[in-house]
Amino acid sequence: MTQADPATPSAAIPEPRVYSREEHGISRAAIDDNALKVLYRLRDAGYRACLVGGGVRDLLLGREPKDFDIATDATPDQVRGLFRNCRLIGRRFRLAHVLFGREVIEVATFRAPHDEDDDNDGQVALSEEGRILRDNRYGTIEQDAVRRDFSVNALYYDIDDFSVLDYTGGVEDLREGVLRLIGDDVETRLREDPVRMLRAVRFSAKLGLRIAPEVEAGIRELAGLMQTVAPARLFDEVIKLFHSGAAVTCLDELERFGLFAPMFPEASECFADPELGAERRQFLVESLLNTDKRINEELGVNPAFLYAAILWAPVQVAAARRIEDGEQEIPAWQQAMAEVLDRQVKTVSIPKRFSLIVREIWELQARLERARGGRALRLLTHPRFRAGYDFLCLRARAGDADPELCRWWTEFQEKDEGEQKQMAGGGGKGKSRARRGGRRRKRRRKGDGEVGGSNDGGDAA
Ligand code: ATP
Ligand code: MG
Repeated sequence: MTQADPATPSAAIPEPRVYSREEHGISRAAIDDNALKVLYRLRDAGYRACLVGGGVRDLLLGREPKDFDIATDATPDQVRGLFRNCRLIGRRFRLAHVLFGREVIEVATFRAPHDEDDDNDGQVALSEEGRILRDNRYGTIEQDAVRRDFSVNALYYDIDDFSVLDYTGGVEDLREGVLRLIGDDVETRLREDPVRMLRAVRFSAKLGLRIAPEVEAGIRELAGLMQTVAPARLFDEVIKLFHSGAAVTCLDELERFGLFAPMFPEASECFADPELGAERRQFLVESLLNTDKRINEELGVNPAFLYAAILWAPVQVAAARRIEDGEQEIPAWQQAMAEVLDRQVKTVSIPKRFSLIVREIWELQARLERARGGRALRLLTHPRFRAGYDFLCLRARAGDADPELCRWWTEFQEKDEGEQKQMAGGGGKGKSRARRGGRRRKRRRKGDGEVGGSNDGGDAA
C-alpha cells in the first residue's frame, strides 16, 4: 500500500470551500454515537478523521442518514490497531469495519486517483472496458474527494473543527438540487464504474435531486455496460434501488434510461408486449408501491418478495409456453420457475437462500387458488403463507388474480378455528377463477402436495 507523497505535484488540486459550524448547521447530536466514538478515537491518535458520503449529504438535507461512513488518513492496519472490535474487509476496496453490536461503522483510508497509467504497483487495476478492478492506493483528502462519484457525496465533516470541507461544489449542488458527477469526463467516470448509473437513479429518486443533463446523456449512452457488472454486485444494488422507499420512481427511471432491460432482459421483454405488457408491469408497480409503503412505515421487507415480483411475468410466460406445448400444468410451472431463475442469475445473481423463497412464493400461488378443506387450514401454517397471500392480493389488484380469492383468504385468516373449518369445507371460493395456463386438468393429489421449502430467510414481504 503506497502512501501518497504530499510533495508530488498533482494536476489541479482544488482548494476546499470551508463551511463553518454556523454556516452548515449540522449538529453533533444528529450524528450516530458510535460514529462519533470512532472519529474521536482516530483524532486523538493523531489521525485526520472525517464523516463523509451519505452521512454528511443527508444531514445537510435534514434527513436521517442510513449509515455513517468515515474517511481517514490512517491505513486500514492502523485503524485496526486502534479498535479491538475491528475487521478488515474487501479486495476491490480495502476497508476497516468497526463493529458495535450489530452496527457497523465503515472506515476508509483516503484514496489516490487511479487514472494515471504510471508505475502500476498492483494496487490499481482497470478492465478492458475501463472498469476499476482494484483501487487501493492511498492518498490525500483532496485526492480522495475527486475520486468519489457525485459532488454531493464528497463532502467531509471534519471532527477536528466541526467544519464541512467541500472540494467539488457539493454544497452548492445540494442547494440547487442537482446530482452532478465529479470531474469533466462523464464517460470515463461511468465506464470506471457503471454502477454509478444505478446510484444516480437511486439518489435522484430517493432525495428528489435532478440528474445533471450531461450525466443523463452519459447514462443513456452507456446503459448497456450494466451487463459488464458482476451479478453479485447488481443483486445488492437492485435491492438498494427497490428498497429505497422510492421504488416506483426508480423503476420508471431505470426504464427511461434503458438500465432496466440489461439487468432484467426477460421481465423487460414481457413488459414490452403490446397486448399484455401493461398489465404485467402493473403488477410489479403494485408490488413496489406496497414495498414503498412498508419501507416508509418501517416494516420489514424481504429481497425474495422483490425478486418474486420482478420475475413473475417471465415465469407466467414461460409456463404458458410449456403448457401450450402440451406439458402438464404442474411440471410446466416447476420448469418455468427453474429456467427463469437460471437465466436471471447470469445478469443479477440471487443467492440460494433467497431464490428458494422466491420459488415458494410462486408455488404458493397455485396452492392458494386451489386449496380447500384441511389443505386451506394447513396452508395457514406454511412459513411463507403471509408472503404468498400478499403476493396473491397484489396480483388481484393488478387484474392478474380473482379479487374474490384475496378477499376469501383475508376473511379466512380472521375467523376462529370453527368458522375456518366451515369456510374451508364450504368450497365457496374462487369458482370463477381464471387459470393462467388454459383449462385446468383433473386435479392430481401428488402434484398439489407439499413444497419441500426451507424455513430460513425470515418473514417475507
Ligand atoms: P447511502 O449510504 O445513503 O446509500 P452513500 O452515498 O453513503 O449513500 P455508500 O455506498 O454508503 O453511499 O458510499 C459512501 C460514499 O463512498 C459515497 O457517498 C461516495 O462518496 C463513495 N462511493 C460509494 N460508491 C462509489 C462509487 N461506485 N464510485 C465512487 N464513489 C463511491
Ligand atoms: Mg453510506
